[in-house]
Amino acid sequence: MALRKIREIGDPILNKTCKEVKEVTDRTRDLIDDMFDTMYEAQGVGLAAPQVGILKRIVVIDCGDDPLLLINPEVLETSGEQTGQEGCLSVPGKAGIVTRPNYAKVKAYNEDMEEFIVEGEELLARALLHEIDHLDGHLYVEKVEGELMNVVPDDEDEMEEEE
Ligand code: ZN
Repeated sequence: MALRKIREIGDPILNKTCKEVKEVTDRTRDLIDDMFDTMYEAQGVGLAAPQVGILKRIVVIDCGDDPLLLINPEVLETSGEQTGQEGCLSVPGKAGIVTRPNYAKVKAYNEDMEEFIVEGEELLARALLHEIDHLDGHLYVEKVEGELMNVVPDDEDEMEEEE
């Protein structure tokens, strides 16, 4: 496995607009594998390519059900509203209250550049919208209601170290 360095808030790359992926090359596949590794190592539920310094429209998400890869994701529909705590691997040690739609329908492409649709509610909808925001240079801190809070990292004893 290969871990990539997660860019943190203040790094200008996080505010740039990412480019569409035209074809999935071996390099793209390596990037995707590394993004999953980096996300799991950091115990995140989602990671966007700009967070590892690559300005491409690629997102990985795992809310605990299935690993999800989205290339060139596009939000087709949203509805409802949810208000809850949100964090970001690029804003370590912090969390904030963000209101987002409770449902999102997203079109994206898989590793073979085949189009698919993913629908999510609650945490998955939040993760989809949070990660897609990254591709347009937006961080959740722009949407936080009130102050950012400090969070104590989870006890890492629960995580087994993998090499
Ligand atoms: Zn994020």
